[in-house]
Amino acid sequence: MSKSFQDRIVLVTGASRGIGRAAAKALAAEGAHVIAVARTVGGLEELDDEIKSVGGSATLVPLDLKDFEALDRLGASIFERWKKLDGFLGNAGVLGVLTPISHMQPKTFQELLDVNVTANWRLLRSLDPLLKISDAGRVLFVSSGVARNARAFWGGYAMSKAALESIALTYAAECETSNVRVNIVNPGATRTAMRAKAMPGEDPDTLPKPADIAPLIVKMLSSSFNDNGTLVNYRETRH
Ligand code: NDP
Repeated sequence: MSKSFQDRIVLVTGASRGIGRAAAKALAAEGAHVIAVARTVGGLEELDDEIKSVGGSATLVPLDLKDFEALDRLGASIFERWKKLDGFLGNAGVLGVLTPISHMQPKTFQELLDVNVTANWRLLRSLDPLLKISDAGRVLFVSSGVARNARAFWGGYAMSKAALESIALTYAAECETSNVRVNIVNPGATRTAMRAKAMPGEDPDTLPKPADIAPLIVKMLSSSFNDNGTLVNYRETRH
């Protein structure tokens, strides 16, 4: 029986650990060829082993998302090799520092903008023609509840996710008449390094694992998922 992502090429950012790595593995298990982006080569290589163990395939792209010219080159390389892109999971993100907004260091604010916002926009710019060549290009951005619910000390991260959602919804509206669909997922609190940094006193065993979120991400990147411009909260999908 053919798998649901057979012959489909999907780019995943933040694939070295956490939610991105679990999603990349799940996509590969469904037959996608995963283009796995992150800085940590060791994490990408472990993902590659995991993907091979489920019979899948990946191309590893060790890259700092703050290297914006490299993001332009990535689109060109994907075109040369595959001539199309079927899915883009904009998952990579940084938390910055939880602090009063008036105390935040400029370099922390800038990194939040660079990684969580600008890199995703630069990737869209680079990947848009490839997604439109696909018969069903799918884009999914990973956001957070704080994008729409301001909370003390979370302002830098919240600002970046609100900006990301704004870009996503704009792009979704612009893609309405194309084969491309653009959506947002809010995983909610998940057992990852980022969550541990945000909530060091929390018992991680009380939280869902990245592998629990992955099936929703796979579903929202599949060619049969035709919603456009929607936000799905993982918590609301659980029974
Ligand atoms: P992790 O910190 O576990 O993983 C973050 C990923 O982003 C890593 O693979 C990291 O790779 C990559 N990344 C960060 N900076 C860069 C960079 N400059 N260049 C390339 N890659 C980079 O986080 P999570 O898995 O928890 O988070 C994934 C997404 O989910 C994020 O967008 C986050 O905001 C969102 N989210 C998470 C929640 C949670 O509770 N965990 C809740 C709500 C949303 P590397 O360091 O190897 O470069």
